[in-house]
Amino acid sequence: MDRFATHEVFNQAPPFSGANLFGCDPALREALEREGGGWAAADMERLGERLGRADLQELARLANAFPPRLHGVDPQGRRIDELEFHPAWHALVALMVEHGAHSLPWEAPRAGAQVARACAYLLFGQVENGAQCPVTMTYAAVPALRQAPQIAAHWLPKILSREYDPRSLPVEQKRGALVGMGMTEKQGGSDVRANTTRAEAIDPALARARFGEGHGQAWNIVGHKWFFSAPQADAHLVLARTGGADGAPPGLSCFFVPRFLPDGSRNAIRVQRLKDKLGNRSNASSEVEFCDATGWLVGKEGRGIPTILEMGGHTRLDCVLGSAGIMRAALTHALHHARGRSAFGRALAEQPLMQNVLADLALESEAATAFALRLARCFDRMADDPQEALLARLLTPAGKYWICKRGPAFGAEAMEVMGGNGYVEDGPLARLYREFPVNSIWEGSGNVMCLDLLRALAKGPETQAALAAELALAGGIDARFDAYCATLLESLAVAGADEAGARRLAGRLVLAVQGALLLRHAPAPVAQGFVASRIADGGGGAFGCLPPGVDFPAILARALPA
Ligand SMILES: Cc1cc2nc3c(=O)[nH]c(=O)nc-3n(C[C@H](O)[C@H](O)[C@H](O)COP(=O)(O)OP(=O)(O)OC[C@H]3O[C@@H](n4cnc5c(N)ncnc54)[C@H](O)[C@@H]3O)c2cc1C
Repeated sequence: MDRFATHEVFNQAPPFSGANLFGCDPALREALEREGGGWAAADMERLGERLGRADLQELARLANAFPPRLHGVDPQGRRIDELEFHPAWHALVALMVEHGAHSLPWEAPRAGAQVARACAYLLFGQVENGAQCPVTMTYAAVPALRQAPQIAAHWLPKILSREYDPRSLPVEQKRGALVGMGMTEKQGGSDVRANTTRAEAIDPALARARFGEGHGQAWNIVGHKWFFSAPQADAHLVLARTGGADGAPPGLSCFFVPRFLPDGSRNAIRVQRLKDKLGNRSNASSEVEFCDATGWLVGKEGRGIPTILEMGGHTRLDCVLGSAGIMRAALTHALHHARGRSAFGRALAEQPLMQNVLADLALESEAATAFALRLARCFDRMADDPQEALLARLLTPAGKYWICKRGPAFGAEAMEVMGGNGYVEDGPLARLYREFPVNSIWEGSGNVMCLDLLRALAKGPETQAALAAELALAGGIDARFDAYCATLLESLAVAGADEAGARRLAGRLVLAVQGALLLRHAPAPVAQGFVASRIADGGGGAFGCLPPGVDFPAILARALPA
């Protein structure tokens, strides 16, 4: 009943549900096609329809309202280190795994597979973000794991399976497996060189006696990790120090540390507690201790950082995709609300100043989507195309910094569009808002990404040339853009000397790439609005300050077709 004793309920916008999240997003559909994943459009239509349903929103709410619980010991006091999740969590992970968000590019070589997977991931990001964490880590672990052929042969069939199997069992008994990563320790996360966890080779005869033949050299691991997400995963890639003392330094090495050992026993990974986090609450992030845990080397001994960074590149792509997805979700909820809510006699979406805010958010969201899928194309092609590899090297840290950094401000603004309803836990905006910052913090925080961009630029003139070639594709369309790019490219030559200016540079670089993509591919109102506000005007202020002359209705009609 809409009627209370004292009043009737009216002028409350209904929730945004029932839309096809792919179908209602022209910018995403076009980007999928343009970047080489068009063959997946029919799958994305189906996925978009499913993700748009009200029951998926409810799963997302439940998974966060009932976060995981740790059971360190069983009722008899035996150590079990088990986690208990709400069924909604399992349903969300299962859906992502069913759609290959962890596996698609690795299943069989197919041009555009990274882009298709990126599109699916961006759609999932509009619903629930905690469940994306183990899916990302599993996806990202595959290239690193391929450096250990024996492990890969045994594990990849389970890792690439489209079946999610949450049971705590040795991998041989499971239908699918997930993988996490453990680098961060108490004394250092960005600077993993500070890791103190140690690994020592186990006497092969002892290992053989315990595990049998054919398992390769096993290592004994002692130490801890301060952030260790998805401790329920079937295995983790873990950094630990080898060598040292008398026997010279190999240094940090990467180890594959399964949850269960080949003899069927639990590996000695003790989950001390779960983190009580601002957001991302559906996902378990833990502190662990390795009390003589067993692991197997991945990559070369002493080359742990480059090995695990192979994983890091892919997780950073997902941070960009994830933030672009949350932006899109926040935008659609806000725009839908503004169309259904009136104030002072007119729908909010028809009020000029609100149109400015919404159009500005729409520009940001479309630019993030276009950039994210362009970056995914770099990942598709980087093995065969040196130009794309150089671009990936530049755009991954720059995009991870800028797009993730724009998230919290974007979320706050979208929330404000919904007024008080945006701020309370009944709707999705509060949760989405809390999800934004983590993409900026983990997998290389903002400053670390900007310093990494400087390192990439220092590699030689080819890197700058790759960027110049990408920007030149949009040359001659808009004089303001051309001038902006000329200044940017000039500044790259001396960028390395200005560590303190690295954030400014990274932001400008991403804006230039976004501007180029929109000028070439987006409708004129979007491209012009973006250039006028971000390129000509410098941008950086509050949302809703688009200059005069921007075509708000055209931008909003495209952002969410009515
Ligand atoms: C929810 C969550 C889950 C996580 N899950 C995992 C996981 O599964 N596995 C894992 O290994 N880690 C995980 N992490 C850890 C995360 O990757 C680290 O927190 C992150 O890398 C930063 O490391 P730190 O916390 O030690 O901060 P620090 O390294 O101390 O950095 C603090 C700040 O200093 C800045 N900074 C660092 N160096 C410089 C410099 N040279 N110049 C300027 N500024 C600098 C950083 O950008 C950052 O802003 C998780 C974190 C969170 C929040």
